[in-house]
Amino acid sequence: MANVLITGGAGFIGSHTCLVLLEAGHQLVALDNFATSSPESLRRVLAIAPPAAKARLRVLEGDIRDPLALDQAFSLGGGRFDAVIHFAGLKSVDQSVREPLSYWDVNVAGSRNLLSAMIKHHCHTLVFSSSATVYGHPHHIPIAESAPVQPINPYGHTKAAVEQMLADLASTVIENQAVAPSAERPPWRIARLRYFNPVGAHPSGRIGEDPLGPPSNLFPFVSQVALGQRPALRIFGADWPTPDGTGIRDYIHVMDLAEGHLAALEALWNGPAQMLTLNLGRGRGYSVLEVVKAFEQASGRSVPFQFVARRPGDAPWSVADPSEAGRQLGWWARRDLEEMCRDGWAWQRSHPQGYRSVG
Ligand code: NAD
Ligand code: UDP
Repeated sequence: MANVLITGGAGFIGSHTCLVLLEAGHQLVALDNFATSSPESLRRVLAIAPPAAKARLRVLEGDIRDPLALDQAFSLGGGRFDAVIHFAGLKSVDQSVREPLSYWDVNVAGSRNLLSAMIKHHCHTLVFSSSATVYGHPHHIPIAESAPVQPINPYGHTKAAVEQMLADLASTVIENQAVAPSAERPPWRIARLRYFNPVGAHPSGRIGEDPLGPPSNLFPFVSQVALGQRPALRIFGADWPTPDGTGIRDYIHVMDLAEGHLAALEALWNGPAQMLTLNLGRGRGYSVLEVVKAFEQASGRSVPFQFVARRPGDAPWSVADPSEAGRQLGWWARRDLEEMCRDGWAWQRSHPQGYRSVG
């Protein structure tokens, strides 16, 4: 059983990962300031988790930018964590263009603060939420981890900056005066996980994605159209160089992603000092029109749409080569588009107002 700090544990991916880790027998402290989430998500996690797991999750309200909150989290974890999974952050590309400093503050300064706390409390194992956004406009599809990191928006810049900070940390040299001239490296075990497009929900329909305000991502928007909360989907571009003219993405079920975190945690915990950089995707792309069709089939509802101009900054294709994660972690995404739509719809239908809904 590992003792793990989960920052941003109440969020979409964090809550599903907390559940998977509890089911696997790990002990967790979830630290979250609820800036973009609700404490209800973790109450639901406890309700779904096996009874014996309930005592293994503690929740602390606090901000990763606050060193005292981090010290408090470490003392709640008994002074020492075996590992940290770091989800806390801001993730809207549009908002990052409007408020870049908030993104540098939370995503970069917050991560730096967390790393300082980890060093202070002797924890050197970290799983970090990076993003396919770091690839910008990739030259080759599918995208391998060796593709250039060239983000094209402030959100992507902050993820790339934290990736670089982690690489620098992993190659820190400690002068060992006693046995000069040899130098040592601190025993960092780091996984930089580049997620593609996480969607869907836990199959119980009791936890899921709960965006603040109008969603900018395709799946939550389509769900709200299917529910009749929005009149129609606006499809950004019908003239992309793709088979049906609409954008193609590598959608991954959030439960597969959560299981990817479990695999990364266990690989680091049982493995040598190392830094892994891994794509977490399915390796299969779907167009916007294919998603609409699959969602209509899963929900039995119609999803009216209209074509509008391309969204600035969009890429036509983004599909992972996930084979390195398979080799390093023995992990592969298993759930298909139908399951993503079915589970996402079960959550949306029973929670039309997200966690503000009764039920
Ligand atoms: P989310 O917004 O649902 O979760 C983020 C969590 O972090 C929320 O619970 C929020 O309250 C918390 N948080 C934000 N600022 C904080 C702070 N200063 N201190 C403590 N907690 C704070 O987002 P998500 O989809 O679960 O994403 C989790 C991580 O994965 C993020 O780092 C995001 O950038 C990354 N990511 C997400 C996607 C995606 O499409 N969902 C894709 C790639 C990468
Ligand atoms: N998209 C769309 N209408 C929307 C939201 C998204 O047509 O309201 C398209 C978008 O242009 C892209 C795909 O859906 O081709 C996935 O977009 P999303 O924002 O979910 O993911 P990202 O582009 O960040 O990978």
